[in-house]
Amino acid sequence: MHGLMMDTPLLISSIAEHAANFHGDREIVSVTMDNPRHRYTVGDAVPRARQLAGALDKLGLERGDRIATIAWNDYRHLEIYYGVSGAGYVCHTINPRLFPEQLVFIINHAEDRYICTDLMFVPLLEKLLPQIPNVEGFVIMTDAAHMPDTSLPNAVCYETMIAGESTDYDWPQFDERTASALCYTSGTTGDPKGVLYDHRSTVLHAYAAVAPDVMNLSSCDVVLPVVPLFHVNAWGIPYSTFMTGAKLVMPGPKMGDGEALYELIKSENVNLALGVPTVWLALLQYCEQSGQVLQSLERTVIGGAAVPRAMIEQFRKVHDVQTIQGWGMTEMSPLGTANTPKAGQESFTEDQRFDLATKAGRGIYGCELRIVDDEGQVLPWDGVAYGALQVRGPWICSDYYKLEGAAGTHTEDGWFDTGDVATIDPQGYMAITDRTKDVIKSGGEWISSIELENTAMGHPAVAEAAVIGVAHPKWTERPLLVIVAAEGQDIGKQELLDFFKGKVADWWIPNDVAFVDELPHTATGKIKKIELRRQFADYALPE
Ligand code: ADP
Repeated sequence: MHGLMMDTPLLISSIAEHAANFHGDREIVSVTMDNPRHRYTVGDAVPRARQLAGALDKLGLERGDRIATIAWNDYRHLEIYYGVSGAGYVCHTINPRLFPEQLVFIINHAEDRYICTDLMFVPLLEKLLPQIPNVEGFVIMTDAAHMPDTSLPNAVCYETMIAGESTDYDWPQFDERTASALCYTSGTTGDPKGVLYDHRSTVLHAYAAVAPDVMNLSSCDVVLPVVPLFHVNAWGIPYSTFMTGAKLVMPGPKMGDGEALYELIKSENVNLALGVPTVWLALLQYCEQSGQVLQSLERTVIGGAAVPRAMIEQFRKVHDVQTIQGWGMTEMSPLGTANTPKAGQESFTEDQRFDLATKAGRGIYGCELRIVDDEGQVLPWDGVAYGALQVRGPWICSDYYKLEGAAGTHTEDGWFDTGDVATIDPQGYMAITDRTKDVIKSGGEWISSIELENTAMGHPAVAEAAVIGVAHPKWTERPLLVIVAAEGQDIGKQELLDFFKGKVADWWIPNDVAFVDELPHTATGKIKKIELRRQFADYALPE
């Protein structure tokens, strides 16, 4: 027997309409290429998204066609999120920092019909043009006054395109499983793979994100997503802020600029900021050098890579900011875990709290977790056993776009293999020890590169650290610590290696330290281990 409840589809357009009805006066502040501080309200944004939807309908597109964006975080990009998906097209967000050949691959693989681009990326697209012949037109995200001379075919100015359209657009109603957005993984191994989200997965994921034990979002919050709109939908922030009426502050091209982020946080009273660890390094460094404290900030959601304990401590001790570590992937929309406290931890010492906060967090309702050994046997949640981390749930991909199972990432019993190796403790807190492909295997036993990196980051002379496995005649592989020294700091190898004593098992301590000026990063700001292993492929460890 079915229940007697309405079967209204979970559509992204319903989030926009909810926001317009209940939070119309809430501000959205953006830094854009043509305006250092643009401000308007949700009540301005939603009618403009409707106008865009109307304009798109006139381009002769079919439902499900891909419309790409190459743009920073700002209000026009946000309108495109709602206008494109709401009208039944697929919003394909592209990371502009990818290599040109990856951009070409992605645009052609997705069969993008139109590309919406920031002014800044017009020259890049002009160069790529001969290799992306199927793109029919380009929408330049600016006003008529800033419209450039360009060789891009059918280039229209965003403001001109939407200007004549009615603000009374009726959003189409369709199956909630209809595709809404497309995002490619960064392709650190092989070609990038497309993850195709749908309306249902997006709405459910946004519901999950606002929960008190996840991001704890409400209309009283002021949110700064430093995670890009082209990186897994900025962790769902465009949807969860509209669901709750939180004020949005978007940094545009100023993502990696510590001073600009500090100014935005201070002047807009930001209390929640989100991003990967590398962007916080820049902000914390700026604050330290200029003697500033982040007064308004209450919490940061940090994910995408392991969060060093030193960063968590600095946020808490210097700025009185809570760090919520999150873990997830493009394939997971991305949220899988969030690290927030649980009942029973009231008597924890500060040290215990910091220890716990370095873990990736506990499962969010909607994302099941399990760890399995090499034979696929499920491992216990004892905080010790580690194995391949697998997930299942309504916002986890069931396949990649146009790959039809070829990626081999799903198990026969319907779980997605994340490629991460993890432990889960009896309280349900998961800790990532490595990516499967980064694991260091010494004498048949695994050494966690992430734990060694975290330990190294705790030394004041270390600005950034990476640990990789290097070939060893007896142990197969041994860890090599590669560091960027903090400015003005001079430190010897032995002193650094001694720092590990008592903090990790003796046999985990790296065999050597290499000093570099800079570590290679991926387009999403993570350390590029593949590249680092290539650089140190012939490295001879000391006897
Ligand atoms: P990619 O780097 O492939 O573009 P994602 O941004 O989807 O893709 O990265 C997902 C990966 O990032 C995870 O599989 C995991 O290895 C790593 N990651 C994400 N969050 C954390 C975390 N809190 N701790 C450690 N690793 C993390």
